[in-house]
Amino acid sequence: MTQGKPTSIRPIRLTNTLSGKKELLETREPGRLTMYSCGPTVYGLIHIGNLRAALVSDMVFRYFKRVGYDVTYVRNYTDVDDKIIKRANEEKIPSEEVARKYIQEVEKDYAVSGMLEPTYKTTVTDHIPEIIALIERILSNGKGYAVDGEVFFSIESFPGYGKLSHKPIEDLVAGMRVDVREKKRNPLDFSLWKPAKPGEPSWDSPWGKGRPGWHIECSAMSSKWLGDQIDVHHGGEDLVFPHHENEIAQSEAASGKAPFVRYWLHHAFINMAKEKMSKSLGNIITAREFLTKYSGELARFLFLSIHYRSPIEFGDEALEQALVSLHRLYEAKARAWELAKTGRARADLRAEGAWGSFLASCEKTRQEIDECYANDFNTAGALGAVFSLIREFNRVLQEPLAAATPAAALGAQQLISVIEEELGSVMGVGRLEPSKALADIERVRAEKLAAATGGTRISEAEILAGIQARADARKAKDFARADEIRKELEARGVLIKDGPAGTTWQFK
Ligand SMILES: [Zn+2]
Repeated sequence: MTQGKPTSIRPIRLTNTLSGKKELLETREPGRLTMYSCGPTVYGLIHIGNLRAALVSDMVFRYFKRVGYDVTYVRNYTDVDDKIIKRANEEKIPSEEVARKYIQEVEKDYAVSGMLEPTYKTTVTDHIPEIIALIERILSNGKGYAVDGEVFFSIESFPGYGKLSHKPIEDLVAGMRVDVREKKRNPLDFSLWKPAKPGEPSWDSPWGKGRPGWHIECSAMSSKWLGDQIDVHHGGEDLVFPHHENEIAQSEAASGKAPFVRYWLHHAFINMAKEKMSKSLGNIITAREFLTKYSGELARFLFLSIHYRSPIEFGDEALEQALVSLHRLYEAKARAWELAKTGRARADLRAEGAWGSFLASCEKTRQEIDECYANDFNTAGALGAVFSLIREFNRVLQEPLAAATPAAALGAQQLISVIEEELGSVMGVGRLEPSKALADIERVRAEKLAAATGGTRISEAEILAGIQARADARKAKDFARADEIRKELEARGVLIKDGPAGTTWQFK
């Protein structure tokens, strides 16, 4: 295939973890783009960090499509994993059922968040033959070895190991847990295939019954749907090592072609402003909780208003700021909406004065937004440009005789179009009917205020999560932890009572 970018597609620069630099995007085939994103492991509801991951992928996908690429986008679900098996044993149901159930739940959260459908959504269990075939290719190329039904990748056979994490092998080894039942030749060697254990899902393979290691799934699924070499691969920064480093090793060792991925995109985490995310009450915020309490629109706005490579300090301040900004956006849209209806816009009109320069600003803003997106997906910059346009709009409205003229209607239409097209098509915000969006924001703010003044009003979802966490702790015979959770709930005004029908709760 020839390299290059067709001149008709806007040049895009993106930060590539592989080089550590911002680079100009050049896809393998002009006009076509292949993209893979590592999705969640489905053993429970996803948290807001997973939601940010999916939103970043969705935003990047939308933007590539918008500038004119023919994009093939694969997003996976990890449906075989230790955590899923553990949950299955706890719930006494097969692990397939756990995975199926939580894929459905995640899909609901994605739908509420307005996520576009990827070209392919894949699961590990649907790709076992491809995974086995890939491991066989790795073995036949002398890059792996089998011991007692387990297959390992040999990192010493792959000289490029460490190129994504930019660390010498010795440093990577230093961070490894040393396993006493060592069958590996090198501590960094990793499992491609694990032998079956009783009570775990397993498949027949040339090495006996077993299941795939974690990393091999993404190599197998991306090569099946996108080919041996792809353009863009996205994931959280925690996946750089070992997951993505291992994906590179597996894919390049199997195909003999490099690079497996041209551009590696990694997004940063969400930090809790005051507390560390922990499994106890309200610390881990599930996407479900966020979307129920707030909205998909606020999730998109909050998690995409900060550049994908910067961490988000999540907390009341960040929420409040997002609510204020979103309110300002929809208030302007509501005003523009009214003005556009009353003033009878005329496209042939040559607006002069304040509206004339406002129309020029609309054009300038579109260009600024376009430049922001094309510069490593600078969504924060794009929003900044829209808000300065909104400030100008509000200023013009203050002028005498500004409203209810054809020029005003034209300006109003242009503002709506900048919001809906420029923000809506890439970030997926700003497209709601303004009165509905404003009512929603008011509801959230009223509830937040009531919670702040009421002091003890924690949400029902938080209470139920607490009761569940306590039940889990008791089941694990961690009675100290169970008691701690009961006290935490009590401190927040919730009394719980264990009865024959289970645990009930009431406010103090
Ligand atoms: Zn992956």
